[in-house]
Amino acid sequence: MKIGLRIDVDTFRGTRYGVPNLCKILADYSVMASFFFSVGPDNMGRHLWRLIRPTFFRKMLRTRASSLYGWDILFKGTFWPGPVIGEKLGHIIRSVSDVGHEVGLHAWDHHAWQAHIDTMDSDAIHRSLNKGVELLTRILGRPPTCSAVPGWKCNDLVLMEKAKFPFGYNSDCRGESIFRPVVGGNELSQPQIPVTLPTYDEVIGHNGVSNSNYNDYTLSLIKPDRLNILTIHAEVEGIICLEMFDRFVKIAQSKGASFAPLGTLLAGSSPIRRATIVANKIHGRDGWVSCQAPCKVCK
Ligand SMILES: [Zn+2]
Repeated sequence: MKIGLRIDVDTFRGTRYGVPNLCKILADYSVMASFFFSVGPDNMGRHLWRLIRPTFFRKMLRTRASSLYGWDILFKGTFWPGPVIGEKLGHIIRSVSDVGHEVGLHAWDHHAWQAHIDTMDSDAIHRSLNKGVELLTRILGRPPTCSAVPGWKCNDLVLMEKAKFPFGYNSDCRGESIFRPVVGGNELSQPQIPVTLPTYDEVIGHNGVSNSNYNDYTLSLIKPDRLNILTIHAEVEGIICLEMFDRFVKIAQSKGASFAPLGTLLAGSSPIRRATIVANKIHGRDGWVSCQAPCKVCK
């Protein structure tokens, strides 16, 4: 039973504290994973403005966002420009790559992408991707081989712009199988590896799921006969839920599961199906996310 392990790093704090914490756990259990870094300014504090939206406010209360992320994250970039994560913490990002984990681009500006993707044109999308790729290339000494948009907010323009970068695959949506995205009837060459399992903040506090049974709940969703891709966050599993994640890896391995970077799952996935990406609502998450959809054009 294989679990593709994806680690999203959204903030300065997550990079500085969460990433080294997670690297230690992964080393203890001899696990390799995929890290997706946000390398530009940390403006996540601008999320504060979303407090005025009632669904987001309820989610904050339900997940105790201040303890998940820390007040410093919630305010970062609100009253002053956020620090450029990759400039200050490039050594941490490089160290992740040096020990053999897969490293990809999450975002230049995580907050700006989530807030403005609906109105960004091709040029704006390209500029954002390019700034992230350039800084990550400087940090790693080579271009990143994969990418994953923030908040699963992807559209056809994003897919077309990503095709101009040397990514071996992207992980931009939720879904059930590895597929090649179809845009305007054309199949793009970069495969999508969708996330198949819910994230911590999507399920905690719902349907009786709490910290005491979260690991068992997530393990119950992992099936040997299907694609299993789990996303964790450096800010959550790497800091506030660190011990719980340590137990998760231990229990999963004791049940015979093995963890792998997403890119290694491409090899055993042929033939790769085609599908489109559509905006959808999913349980526990505010706003729309991109989802794999059956491809009407090619079926
Ligand atoms: Zn993210």
